[in-house]
Amino acid sequence: MKVIKLRDGKERSLLRRHPWVFQGSIGSGKADSGETVRVESAAGDFLAWAAYSPHSMIRVRAWSFDAAERIDAGFFERRIAQAVALRQRLPIASDGVRLIHGEADGLPGLIVDRYADILSAQFLSAGVERWKATIADLLLKATGLTRLYERSDASVRELEGLASVSGWLRGGGSTETTIREHEWQLTLDVAEGHKTGFYLDQRDSRKLFADTVRHFGCQRVLNCYSYTGGFSVAALAGGAAMVTSVDSSAPALARAADHVVRNGFDAARHEAIDADVNQTLRQCIDQGRRFDAIVLDPPKFAPTAAHADRAARAYKDINRLAFKLLEPGGVLFTFSCSGGISADLFHKIVAGAGLDAGVDGLIYARTGAAPDHAMTVTFPEGEYLKGLMIIKR
Ligand code: SAH
Repeated sequence: MKVIKLRDGKERSLLRRHPWVFQGSIGSGKADSGETVRVESAAGDFLAWAAYSPHSMIRVRAWSFDAAERIDAGFFERRIAQAVALRQRLPIASDGVRLIHGEADGLPGLIVDRYADILSAQFLSAGVERWKATIADLLLKATGLTRLYERSDASVRELEGLASVSGWLRGGGSTETTIREHEWQLTLDVAEGHKTGFYLDQRDSRKLFADTVRHFGCQRVLNCYSYTGGFSVAALAGGAAMVTSVDSSAPALARAADHVVRNGFDAARHEAIDADVNQTLRQCIDQGRRFDAIVLDPPKFAPTAAHADRAARAYKDINRLAFKLLEPGGVLFTFSCSGGISADLFHKIVAGAGLDAGVDGLIYARTGAAPDHAMTVTFPEGEYLKGLMIIKR
């Protein structure tokens, strides 16, 4: 077993059970991509078993802090079983579920979503890449499913020195499937959809949106960055008269239109705009349009803190425009999924947008990712999605 020794004083984060060690903290030792290593303090004390990643700034990702644990197929079987058992205990109103959420489930770099009878996975670190075949077999065993699609085409793979790959890992057939979320039927394609196919993390916020639209009697709804229209279906279910979905992806909008009809709503209650959101918001202002509820669920503007300044301006801009388009008493559901923007900073950005728009807002709810996107107290990087629900006064 190869040993990685940390520099003096650099053992603190592992002792706090944070799973990452950055390149600059390594004193000595090397290993192959994904190889299991024993990580020791400068004094030679055991800290963790970990996967080594020679190309990544995150040089080491811990598998286990237990010196007696062996990193073998049995280890992965236990971790996967724990993750699946946790989801069975959580209240999840869907058969679309995140089964494994990387670091928070003790499997750094592994994302596994279940979409009805298909598993869709991303192997995003050298460690899980090395154990891929074992993990694939164990995932089928733990779920009783036969089909696993791989979507390891995320750009973070490059940072690990790994090539982009996608395709069936186990089983085959159609990559299309339908999930039931709350009382809605939503379709997706694990080969073509974003990430692993769908944005499961917004499940609970979509329900809250339906309830909010119903409660406040919102009639005209604008769903920005709609993707396949999850929030649009929620708005119609909540009784909205008319919903406008805006996205720059034509296939996503086509699916949104299909979702409206598939869920029993009249197609005439839905309008799809294939355009840039910022431009569309400005056009709506020019045209004098007004809305009773607006959703802003943009893509990650700031993947890391280094992009925070530019991202803050982009968030502020769209929130300012949305505040202007809202009727007094209207509701704004505004989100940031940027790891580089803290909940605190997001709050400040939205507050600044309200000031610039000359309106005051009442925060009546805050949300994060649905609980199957597990978050642990020792890994703050796991908190990426923040939502503020605001009533315009
Ligand atoms: N709210 C959605 C998820 C949104 S993901 C849901 O509940 O499923 C972000 C979406 O923003 C993607 O569909 C992407 O196509 C879209 N997008 C990215 N940049 C955009 C832009 N500048 N204008 C419009 N849409 C954009």
